[in-house]
Amino acid sequence: MKLLEERIRKDGTIRGTEVLKVDRFLNHQMDIGLINEIGKEFKRLYGDCGVNKILTIEASGIGIACITAQFFNVPVIFAKKNKTKNIAGDVYTSKVESFTHGKVYDIIVSKEFLGPEDRVLLIDDFLANGSALQGLINLVRDAGATLVGAGICVEKAFQPGGDLIRSMGVRVESLARVKSMDEATNSIEFCE
Ligand code: 5GP
Repeated sequence: MKLLEERIRKDGTIRGTEVLKVDRFLNHQMDIGLINEIGKEFKRLYGDCGVNKILTIEASGIGIACITAQFFNVPVIFAKKNKTKNIAGDVYTSKVESFTHGKVYDIIVSKEFLGPEDRVLLIDDFLANGSALQGLINLVRDAGATLVGAGICVEKAFQPGGDLIRSMGVRVESLARVKSMDEATNSIEFCE
């Protein structure tokens, strides 16, 4: 998606060779006009797939998922990062390793909100090593729901997550795919 690539070039900040900051427009301050276009693009890609739930992970996926959901006219569920040790039996749970902090944490979704009748689209801001998506996929599978695919704003294609998730047979649509980036030269290259 050219609009997103151009915005990343203009307002993104590269940290080293691994981390891209997009907090001027996507996941801290949020440009709603841009995210509207992102939502429309996910609708164009997945609009004929019978999606009836959108699933994301707190916190930065929530805003993008909510705007996207308006084009699908379906509810959003966000997996919560669980802080208590006792996980009650009325939730689906999975583990996620944080890309930014390296810590492993549990994510949970109430069984009330996801079940075999659901056709689920996953939405997130970034795809790096794939742990967040893998965690969400586990929740969908545990619920017996159908996974339609994943809509990602920025995939860092030089990290293994995209290949990993696609090799599982999951459809992944990323609106900007970063081939390489380098803070030292302030350069960023996108996949064709
Ligand atoms: P993964 O689980 O695929 O390794 O990482 C995805 C999650 O880590 C996303 O939900 C996102 O919040 C965070 N993340 C991964 N890479 C980046 C990055 O370069 N910049 C930012 N801002 N977040 C990232």
